[in-house]
Amino acid sequence: MTDTMRRFVLAARPEGEPGPEHFRLETAPLPDPGEGQILARTILLSLDPYMRGRMSAARSYAKPVEVGALMEGQVVAEVIASRSPRWKTGDVVVAPLGWATHGVCDAEAAFRTVPGVPLGAALGVMGMPGLTAWVGLNDIAGGKAGETIVVSAATGAVGGVVGQLARAKGMRVIGVAGGAEKCAYAVAELGYHACLDHKAMDARTLSRAISEAAPDGVDAYFENVGGTVLEAVLPRMNTFGRIALCGMIAWYSGFEGAPPAPLVWGAILRQRLRVQGFIVTDHQNRTGAFAAEVAPMILSGALKWRETVAEGLEAAPAAFASLLRGDNFGKQLVRVGADPV
Ligand code: NDP
Repeated sequence: MTDTMRRFVLAARPEGEPGPEHFRLETAPLPDPGEGQILARTILLSLDPYMRGRMSAARSYAKPVEVGALMEGQVVAEVIASRSPRWKTGDVVVAPLGWATHGVCDAEAAFRTVPGVPLGAALGVMGMPGLTAWVGLNDIAGGKAGETIVVSAATGAVGGVVGQLARAKGMRVIGVAGGAEKCAYAVAELGYHACLDHKAMDARTLSRAISEAAPDGVDAYFENVGGTVLEAVLPRMNTFGRIALCGMIAWYSGFEGAPPAPLVWGAILRQRLRVQGFIVTDHQNRTGAFAAEVAPMILSGALKWRETVAEGLEAAPAAFASLLRGDNFGKQLVRVGADPV
């Protein structure tokens, strides 16, 4: 067994898009777990858009990562030493070990993967993004058969699950995604009734296309991106429509191309929209209900997903930048270590 670990720390806070200069790869001695802790080796690292927020010192719902500190993140890992009765060597867990080959955490901070569910899915459809999709659709946006919903970032880790769950409810489901390949996949594999390519259209053209795809108007919008997609969807919202405000990735590195505030607020007023932001960590009490519905769908093959997997911890900064640009197709992971034998 190795006696060192590698990890990425935040080297500097980015202005705009993050690049390699904002991360530093360090080597450190393998830490010893304290009483009640585990030491684990990372198999897969999850890269998620929220990490851009942690790199910034701006006020948010969670504390930023300090400059010089380990980049935060969830991983699937194999326990290699345990000082807790809860876990034994060889157990595979989901744990907050960050961008690192190894790490120590409290035994209570780790949780078990669902037997039969592929390891990557524990960080995607069966993990935080899946719960976000389920909570956002069921508890925030709401939706019933016959209604129309628009989902942005429609093939992503969150959006891909929203689209399939909404379809299963009998809704008319319109996706917005970047590029012809993602749009074709959304319709052919994920069951969207239509999917529109926001990269091929300006806001006005996209808005007209949404109107054609949703002739009865839009009752619910699952908002993952902001930017020109929000500008295009707003005029198509029906009176008393609902917006589940999940993410605004188009604005995480700057506000270029943002619609004017009067346009946004005016639509909310005139169409009497209910807009509700939500953060998944406030909804952990819904994990049981989510798992009860979604785990069987995964095990039966009813729920589909895609992954983009970068190879090796060193690839994490570039893979993260590519996720923020939309170059990922489905859940973005980094393979850090081999699966357990
Ligand atoms: P995805 O797997 O969907 O990847 C991000 C996608 O966002 C890209 O693939 C791209 O899709 C799209 N995108 C990136 N830049 C732009 C842009 N400028 N304009 C339009 N689309 C863009 O990520 P997740 O599913 O993990 O996250 C989706 C959203 O949900 C994010 O905003 C994230 O912050 C948010 N989120 C919120 C949570 C909460 O608790 N509120 C929890 C988890 C996620 P495409 O190529 O199709 O445009």
